[in-house]
Amino acid sequence: MEKTQSTGLLFEISHKGRRCHRLSPIDVPAKPVSSTLDKSYLASSTPPWPEVGEVDLVRHYVNLSTKNMSIDSNFYPLGSCTMKYNPKRHERLASLGGLANLHPLQEEKTCQGMLEILWEMQEFLGEIAGLDGVSLQPAAGAQGELTSLLVAAAYFRSRGEKRTKVLIPDSAHGTNPASAAIAGFDTVSIKSNSRGRVDLDDLASKVDGQTAVFMITNPNTLGLFDEQIVKITQLIHQAGGLVYLDGANMNAILGMTRPGDFGVDMMHYNVHKTFTGPHGGGGPGAGPIAVRAPLIPFLPSPIVKKEKDTFTLDYDRPQSIGRVHSFLGNMGILLRGYLYIRTLGPDGLKQVTENAVLNANYLLSLIYGAFDVPHGNRCMHEFVASARNLRRDKKISAMDIAKRLLDYGYHAPTVYFPLVVPEALMMEPTETESKETLENFAATLLKIKEESPELLQQAPHSLGISRPDEVRAAREPILRWKSN
Ligand SMILES: *Cc1c(COP(=O)(O)O)cnc(C)c1O
Repeated sequence: MEKTQSTGLLFEISHKGRRCHRLSPIDVPAKPVSSTLDKSYLASSTPPWPEVGEVDLVRHYVNLSTKNMSIDSNFYPLGSCTMKYNPKRHERLASLGGLANLHPLQEEKTCQGMLEILWEMQEFLGEIAGLDGVSLQPAAGAQGELTSLLVAAAYFRSRGEKRTKVLIPDSAHGTNPASAAIAGFDTVSIKSNSRGRVDLDDLASKVDGQTAVFMITNPNTLGLFDEQIVKITQLIHQAGGLVYLDGANMNAILGMTRPGDFGVDMMHYNVHKTFTGPHGGGGPGAGPIAVRAPLIPFLPSPIVKKEKDTFTLDYDRPQSIGRVHSFLGNMGILLRGYLYIRTLGPDGLKQVTENAVLNANYLLSLIYGAFDVPHGNRCMHEFVASARNLRRDKKISAMDIAKRLLDYGYHAPTVYFPLVVPEALMMEPTETESKETLENFAATLLKIKEESPELLQQAPHSLGISRPDEVRAAREPILRWKSN
C-alpha cells in the first residue's frame, strides 16, 4: 500500500517545503519573534512539524476516519454506553447561526432564545426525573456524581450533621466509588444477591447514622430493574441518608417511571447517552443533575431563572457549592438533548424506552441458550452474557469474541463489566436498530462461537491493528515524535 493510504503518522509523509497554503507576501517591515517575545518563551529550534500538501493531508484524515467504528457506520451494542443513532436533523438545527455563533460572554438580553432553551431543558429534566431543581453544568455523568455528592456534603454540613459514608452496590460503575472518594467520603460496598439485585440484608446491616448517601443504578448494570427500590429508599431515609440515582440507564425507564417517585433525592443524566449527544472516543458529554427541593440551594451557580418573560442567570445563591464548569456547561450537547426531547415529546420518549427494552429482549432471546446469561432470559434495555463456560471448555474469552466481532463489521459489546459477572459481554442494542440488524448480529455471535479457538485468539484479522498492548499504551504512552 502507498504511504498516503496508510494509517501511519503524518510525519511519515512529510516532505520539506510542502504546504497546504501560502501566506501573501508581508507588506510591513519584518521583525524577528525574539524582538517581541522574551527569550525564555522561545524554543531553540523549530519543532519538526509535518510538511504536507492539502490533498495528502485530507486523504490522511479521511482514510484514518474510515478505520474507525462509529454509530454511523456500524452496529454498536456497547452496553451501558447507549450508543444510539444521532439524528442528523439535530445537527442541522444545532448549527443554526443563532445558536452556533453565540459567545458565552454575551449579555443576557442578547441571548434570550438560548437562555429560554436552557431554562426549558431544566424544566424538562426536572419533570422526567420527578425532582424539583436542576443544574446543567456538569460535563459528564461522572462529574454529575461528584457534583451531587458535593451538594449532599454541603446539605449535611448546613444541618450540622457529620456523615462520612457512601454506600454503593458491587455491580456499580467504577465512577461511583471514585466520585465518592474524591468528594471526601468513605465508600462501603453492598453485595448483590443471586438475582443480581441489592442484597437487602447486607444493605440493612451497613446503613447507619454515618450514612450520607446510597448510590444506586436502576435499572442496574446487569440490565435488571431493582423492584425493591421503594423499600431501599425508605431504609436509607429512615437512617437520615439521601438516595442518589446513577441515571446512565434512564433509556430504560423514560416516561415509564420517575426516580423522584420511587424515592430518589438526586440523580444525574448522561445527555450524550439517553438523549443522543454524539459520543465515543472521549468526546463531549453533559451530565446535568436533578435534586429534591431541600438540596436546591446548594446546586452550582448560576441557574437559569425565568421572571415574567425574561430569562436571567441567577448567581445570588449564597449556599451554592460554586461552579463545576465554565459558563453553563457543554451547551452543544445540552442543545442536542433538548432537540431530541422536543422532537419526540412525552409519548415519543416513552416509546423510546419500550422499543429499547423490546430490542434488548429480542436480542437476548436470539442468543439465550447458546450463550450463558447468568441473570435470566428477561432484561430491561441491556443484558450481560458470560463467556465463562467457553473459556473453561474451549479457552475462548470474552475478549476473543469481542475482537472477532470487529472482523464481521460490528463494534464489540462492553466486556469485563460489570465486575460481578466473569467474562462479561454486556450488550445494549438501543431502540434505533432494526429487527434485521439484531438478527444478523445474533447469527454472527452464534457463528463465532463455533469457530476455532486459534482463529479467535488472534482476532481481529482484517484491521490495521490487531491486539495492541493496552496496559503499556496507557502506562507508557509515546507522546513525543522523535525525528531521526
Ligand atoms: C457511562 C456511565 C457512567 C459515567 O458517565 P460518563 O458520562 O461517561 O462520565 C456512570 N455510570 C454508569 C452506569 C455508566 O454507564
